[in-house]
Amino acid sequence: MHESCGVVGVYAPNEDVARLTFFALFALQHRGQESAGIASADGQKLKVHAQMGLVSQVFNEESLSKLTGHIAIGHNRYSTTGSSRICNAQPLIVGKGQDALAIAHNGNIVNSRLLYQELLDKGYSFSSTTDSEVIGNLIISVPGEMVSKIRYTMHRLQGAYSLTMMNRDRMFAARDPFGIRPLCLGTINGHGWVVVSETCALDQIGARFVREVEPGEIISIGPDGLESYREPSPRHAICIFEYSYFARPDSTINGRLVYQARQAMGARLAEEYPMYADLVVGVPDSSTIAAKGYAQRCGIALADGLIKNRYIGRTFIEPDQRLRDLGAKLKYNPMPQVLDGKRIVLVDDSIVRGTTTPHVIKLLKKAGAKEVHMRVCVPPIRYPCFFGVDMATRWELIAAQKSVEEIRDFIGADSLGYLSIDNLVKAVDLPSNSFCLACFNGEYPIPVQMDMEKLSLETHLHRHSPTQDYK
Ligand code: SF4
Repeated sequence: MHESCGVVGVYAPNEDVARLTFFALFALQHRGQESAGIASADGQKLKVHAQMGLVSQVFNEESLSKLTGHIAIGHNRYSTTGSSRICNAQPLIVGKGQDALAIAHNGNIVNSRLLYQELLDKGYSFSSTTDSEVIGNLIISVPGEMVSKIRYTMHRLQGAYSLTMMNRDRMFAARDPFGIRPLCLGTINGHGWVVVSETCALDQIGARFVREVEPGEIISIGPDGLESYREPSPRHAICIFEYSYFARPDSTINGRLVYQARQAMGARLAEEYPMYADLVVGVPDSSTIAAKGYAQRCGIALADGLIKNRYIGRTFIEPDQRLRDLGAKLKYNPMPQVLDGKRIVLVDDSIVRGTTTPHVIKLLKKAGAKEVHMRVCVPPIRYPCFFGVDMATRWELIAAQKSVEEIRDFIGADSLGYLSIDNLVKAVDLPSNSFCLACFNGEYPIPVQMDMEKLSLETHLHRHSPTQDYK
């Protein structure tokens, strides 16, 4: 399961905004590893540098020094619409001259196909295959000043979007009316503003957290300071997986530290599905905190029974089923010295397709584990996500096809317990109507067509060089 992106925006006269953006992107690397980019503005022109790869691979002293100005936005990408290609690396630039706008987007637009066609009919061209460019072109397609353009666009968009944007002299941020993806605001050095996907990026660059960007909010920052505008928000619906999986544990979302939420998930899982066992093992890295919570609540020792090879590339392990199967072996190494003869509780953050879990359990048993009792920090995933999480189609979701007992049998566990929706929500400790829980209960905050295809604009694809100037 992969998240779509991390976004950054920095407005700070007399600061090295590109370098600040670089370090903020570095802190958000977990949100996307396919490509990274930064655009900057100095009041006269926009510049952008974006390439495939990790933040540390994409930027060096030379590329950062070219990104001059007092505004910068940045982006880490994991593709959800549009393929993994350089043309889809963000920030994207739409428009020309005075109208040029740089945009960085985290989320997924449900009605982008319709809007794309409408824009094509009006004569707009596309250089990427992403829904983010649909947003950008929609913004520049209407007359007026920027905030009213963004406002119009928000009325037309259905889906998830946390955006940072800039033109030559102002920075903007916007969040969809449900607040499906996180976005927060901070200050830096007393005179600058920072907008980032997660608070860990504020900590990284020494910025001070001010508040969340509210669902439905538009922020506009210029020489005259920060202005805020609100569109109506029918209800808040942050993706619950931000707490269980996507966000960094040291980030705080809606006042709740992700680390504490994960620990509470493990503790509630132990209350719901206790087990007499010798050891609790978390599937590294995303489940180790929940495993700690489980172990503490049950009074069982926590052990590192699986060691993760952190340097294995996603593209290497995922292209087909055969390599996916091999992937578990390449990714995790079990330690027989720790596991031999032991009854293990294995804690994982989710089971999506169920393709990796049987291999992990097999690895543990081969290493001598006597029993493996699987515990999952979220309920069974029965519905796909249309809001920016690259999960699977309904057809591929194991819990949409099999009962819990059939899944237990399929993965080869001695027992299987999923955290209930009720306990998941209690673990995060926010009101139950604050979340999107659609992949568990099918209640999407926005109507979606279940047979929706992902946007594919490949025919309109053309490459652009990594560094471009837009005057
Ligand atoms: S459908 Fe699931 S993964 Fe997608 S936003 Fe909602 S809770 Fe998150």
